[in-house]
Amino acid sequence: MRQISGKDELIANAAYIGTLGKGILAADESTGTIGKRLSSINVENVEENRRALRELLLCTPGALQYLSSVILFEETLYQKTSSGKPYVEVLKEGGVLPGIKVDKGTVELPGTNGETTTQGLDNLAQRCQQYYAAGARFAKWRAVLKIRPTEPSQLAINDNANGLARYAIICQENGLVPIVEPEVLVDGSHDIDRCADVTERVLAACYKALNDHHVLLEGTLLKPNMVTPGSDAEKFPPEVVAKYTVKALQRTVPVAVPAVMFLSGGQSEEEATLNLNAMNKLKTKKPWTLSFSFGRALQQSALKAWAGKVENIEIARAAFLARCKANSEATLGIYKGDAAIGEGASESLHVKDYKY
Ligand code: 13P
Repeated sequence: MRQISGKDELIANAAYIGTLGKGILAADESTGTIGKRLSSINVENVEENRRALRELLLCTPGALQYLSSVILFEETLYQKTSSGKPYVEVLKEGGVLPGIKVDKGTVELPGTNGETTTQGLDNLAQRCQQYYAAGARFAKWRAVLKIRPTEPSQLAINDNANGLARYAIICQENGLVPIVEPEVLVDGSHDIDRCADVTERVLAACYKALNDHHVLLEGTLLKPNMVTPGSDAEKFPPEVVAKYTVKALQRTVPVAVPAVMFLSGGQSEEEATLNLNAMNKLKTKKPWTLSFSFGRALQQSALKAWAGKVENIEIARAAFLARCKANSEATLGIYKGDAAIGEGASESLHVKDYKY
């Protein structure tokens, strides 16, 4: 078996991303997905507007202190601020590691009832080398599983676990820390026990595959869904979500993994923060940092406040800063609920069959 070179760097970067008190901003929406966000505020999906939105977020004074890292889409990795500074430099100066989405989205998995597999393994090694040279130090790959009466199928679980493991080892061989993201979608009317059962089966399969592919677990991070009832079922309080979620992790995630960075998956900004806070308040065995890697739940109120207008940038930045601070506090279990007053902070961000 070939040894991964640069192990120490992978381990150090993974540990840094999991620094307590900090989390990840997922700003890696593909051009199609960001288009949907922009159209919700009547802003045209052209490169300059995508660049401007990323500048609004990444250059918010004070925000980077709450972030260890930001996931970028390829376009942003090579973009600059309006004053000509590469975003990668902005992040470096703020002590924030740049990361890159490397998957190419999902396609239907033949032989299943509309389940999916994630594409992007072709040329992945070369792309990782280019991204590393451009300053990226970690990567993200999103696999998607659905809960329905007879899904997820064992085929979809195995295929997606294997894809994540193949991606992870290719990243590590090329210097990037892989974020392993098996997202069990919230869509459906299932109860929380069903979500827990599926999440545990999916995570167990992922760690079996990562092990089979000789992935160095200390140089990886997990980005899972929280364990919640389906989007069409009644919600549970944060303390219950926290208990179920941490139990699912205890049963499946090796202690060697340094940090678990949750996705928000359509929860409102406030809901995602309160759930994370409740997990960090729980008195139980938690050998990993539990933090955030939120996309929608960090950006929504800022996006709304901005609405594409220069004169709104300041108020939009205040909204983004408030969410970053609140989530930082939630990683320490000391969030008091004071960011809930922001406009839109409690609004559901659920989109059926969400594509990133
Ligand atoms: P959400 O937090 O909006 O679910 O997105 C995170 C992400 O990176 C999905 O791949």
